[in-house]
Amino acid sequence: MSIVTPKGTSDMLPDVARKWQFLLATAAELFEAYGYEPIDTPIFEATELFVRGIGEATDIVHKEMYTFEDKGGRSLTLRPELTAPVVRAYLQHNLGGGGRLVKLYYAGPMFRFERPQAGRSRQFWQIGIEALGAEAPSVDAEAIVLLVRYFERLGLRDLQVLINSMGCVECRPAYREALAAYLRGRTPELCPDCVRRLEMNPLRVFDCKNPECADVMNEAPEVADFTCGDCAEHFNEVKALLAEAGLAYEVDARLVRGFDYYTKTTFEVRSSQLGAQNALGGGGRYDGLAEMIGGSRTPGVGFALGAERTMLALEAEDVSMPARPPVHVFVATVDETTRRAAFGIVGRLREAQIAAEMDHMGRSLKGQMKQAGKSGVLFAAILGPDEAARGECTVRDMESGEESAVPLADLEEWLAERIKEEIM
Ligand SMILES: [Zn+2]
Ligand SMILES: [Zn+2]
Repeated sequence: MSIVTPKGTSDMLPDVARKWQFLLATAAELFEAYGYEPIDTPIFEATELFVRGIGEATDIVHKEMYTFEDKGGRSLTLRPELTAPVVRAYLQHNLGGGGRLVKLYYAGPMFRFERPQAGRSRQFWQIGIEALGAEAPSVDAEAIVLLVRYFERLGLRDLQVLINSMGCVECRPAYREALAAYLRGRTPELCPDCVRRLEMNPLRVFDCKNPECADVMNEAPEVADFTCGDCAEHFNEVKALLAEAGLAYEVDARLVRGFDYYTKTTFEVRSSQLGAQNALGGGGRYDGLAEMIGGSRTPGVGFALGAERTMLALEAEDVSMPARPPVHVFVATVDETTRRAAFGIVGRLREAQIAAEMDHMGRSLKGQMKQAGKSGVLFAAILGPDEAARGECTVRDMESGEESAVPLADLEEWLAERIKEEIM
């Protein structure tokens, strides 16, 4: 086979796809209970949305976007994240009309041209929320609680919750200046990327994975020493609310998110079971984003979590995931003449919520019974021409081998009753 998946992408084969469906179903149920509604946006957007919304100086915009020109000469980009598109949709459709708090959740693939490694792909899958229209610290706290409760509901236990405040437009400039001044004094120790970041946005140096840069950042000035009264009060309230919810957390001064639009609260949930790539999900407040993409001032809070890392953590903690649901009945045919009747019976059983299967490969009765045995069904319903003419079939209990003649008219009821007994 010469054509395979592009580098950095993978197929979700049934076992993995079933896990992804489980992540989605669990998210939908829990997020709806927290008042969030689903939203879906296009896979590609105008490139300008991300350049303005994420920031030109970020690695994402600088080197990781899948940007292309379509046949109409428009510059489009495969979405590298979903906060900017969701805020774009909120503004475009005036979802916040009347000063409402709008709570949305989403799930789907994102695209970044990154060096592929464990838990990091070029097409990766995220689930996230955005709460738009409220300044209240309770919205920040609710998002953090929801992210943690989600991982807990999936079955994860080894979680670490980190929070920080990044300040606001009032107080961050002074911090940024102090950080830039500090970094200029240590330029020789920084990697070339960070030297570039330092002049464009020194906060980005926190994103660098280079250990020498991380050492420099360990001694860097902390944003907490620069936050204004309003930011400090907001952060204190978030912490009080987390305590009220019984959620354990740590304040990490180095938790500074790489996007320009983050303000005040940032947070991250990590798994102690994973190595260097241990962040399962994170987010924060982004009161400046709507204005950056051309809308009116709209406070917002959101998070995104990665499906691949979450699955790795579930595996590391040995959490049992839903398996393929069992098939209970195999409808076998003695010869070709009853094939159509069997097709009809399988359909009737399925409509009666009885998981049933039949042969589609032209197997002999012997071959069909072998297949039925292998698939682990509880019963085989065998349809011969004479029986079919009498309106009956033979049902074999696959475990005991006991056979009964059952009228076709009673088949669903007969099987439903016995399946119930067997799986109880
Ligand atoms: Zn502030
Ligand atoms: Zn660096």
